[in-house]
Amino acid sequence: MDLIDVIKAAGVIGAGGAGFPTHAKLTSKAEYILLNGAECEPLLRVDQQLMEQFPDEIIRGLEAAGRYIEARKAVIGIKGKHKEVVVLMRERITALGLSNYVEVMELRDIYPAGDEQVLVHELTQRIVPEASIPLKVGCVVINSETALNIAQAIAGSPVTETYITVAGDIPHRMTLKVPVGISIREVFKQCGVDNVDDYAVIDGGPMMGSVMNNLDGYVTKKSKGYVLLKKDHFLIRKKSVSVDRARVIGKTACEQCRMCTDLCPRYLLGHNMQPHKVMRALSYNLADVKDQQIAQLCCECNACELFSCPANLHPKSVNILYKQKLAEQGIRYQPTQLNFEARSAREYRLIPSKRLVAKIGLTAFDKPAPMTQIEFRPETIRVALRQHIGAPAIPVVAVGEQVQAGQLIGKIPDNSLGAAVHSSLSGSVIESTGDSIVIKVGSYV
Ligand code: SF4
Ligand code: SF4
Repeated sequence: MDLIDVIKAAGVIGAGGAGFPTHAKLTSKAEYILLNGAECEPLLRVDQQLMEQFPDEIIRGLEAAGRYIEARKAVIGIKGKHKEVVVLMRERITALGLSNYVEVMELRDIYPAGDEQVLVHELTQRIVPEASIPLKVGCVVINSETALNIAQAIAGSPVTETYITVAGDIPHRMTLKVPVGISIREVFKQCGVDNVDDYAVIDGGPMMGSVMNNLDGYVTKKSKGYVLLKKDHFLIRKKSVSVDRARVIGKTACEQCRMCTDLCPRYLLGHNMQPHKVMRALSYNLADVKDQQIAQLCCECNACELFSCPANLHPKSVNILYKQKLAEQGIRYQPTQLNFEARSAREYRLIPSKRLVAKIGLTAFDKPAPMTQIEFRPETIRVALRQHIGAPAIPVVAVGEQVQAGQLIGKIPDNSLGAAVHSSLSGSVIESTGDSIVIKVGSYV
């Protein structure tokens, strides 16, 4: 079978957050394939440990994807501070005889080193044009776990598990392999957190993740971590401010110092993202959202909101507000140029991760979260049919049917972008809705 068909059949999606179906990402040729091992979100510890545990698989998965798209070079980006991982990956590349094709490059410990466009620039010196994708400058970027999933797909295993870090203000921080579809509360219980009521939980990293309103959800293929913090922690209070409240505060308190712009990673790459201008528009109550198209250049990294703004305002949330208004009116940003140069001040304005962690009050929790083996024995799992960008999968099993671990339970609709969905455990189907399939897990003997 062709590699794309193998990846498609295994339901591989971008494990780094967005969940873009990987088979669709690999349909175009590119000069470089880049492995995003930056893991720049504070407290999350998945990628570095996966590279320690599965170096050969990750290198092989990256190589296979790279050869498929006819990339002339595969580059693995890892933060230089993870010295052992860098050494190990280089050793394994040599041992696998791939030194002519795969290379490790050390990334600086800055935020957001893992933003695709920042990563492309740090590894290749190229700049993705505004409102565009890395392919435009000859690059395809995949995440470490995605490369691992590609290798496992080649070995015949579909994606039924994901790796997550559970971190924050808890006694036992850890990184776990969990079956897709398990309840989030079950994960917390296994981490020794019985009473979640004391906590607010961020789904994903502390910078880009959002505070969960409801903890009754289920793990998906793109789950990356949960950060548990006391409800009165600065980060929780800041992230819980509604867009409406952010709008009102921003309107009255923005001093137009432009720190949000000067430190914006996309602005520093030469793009026209200038959040202070969007804030100014808000202050003047400018109804013409057409002039605020630059809001669409925001990658929502949250640096402006959680690090840069001295007045503790919410430029990212205001960008989101304008993005919504622009989308409602069907307006899309039109780039005015194709070639960009990083701003000369960029080198002096990068955000050091350690300072960021201190600024958002996480220094005390910035500790290892070691990979821990836990055998989960849930009574049921609920596997979502849309864990990815694109159309939801269509159920191919009916209520009452027995399924095996790894069996296809949802297929990609014809002529659509989507991803296949498999059962992570064996059992019988007890519910099938348009959104998810519930499986009563069989015995654990
Ligand atoms: S950093 Fe804050 S106060 Fe300064 S321009 Fe941006 S939003 Fe306004
Ligand atoms: S969230 Fe703020 S810092 Fe990040 S890209 Fe958007 S405007 Fe720039």
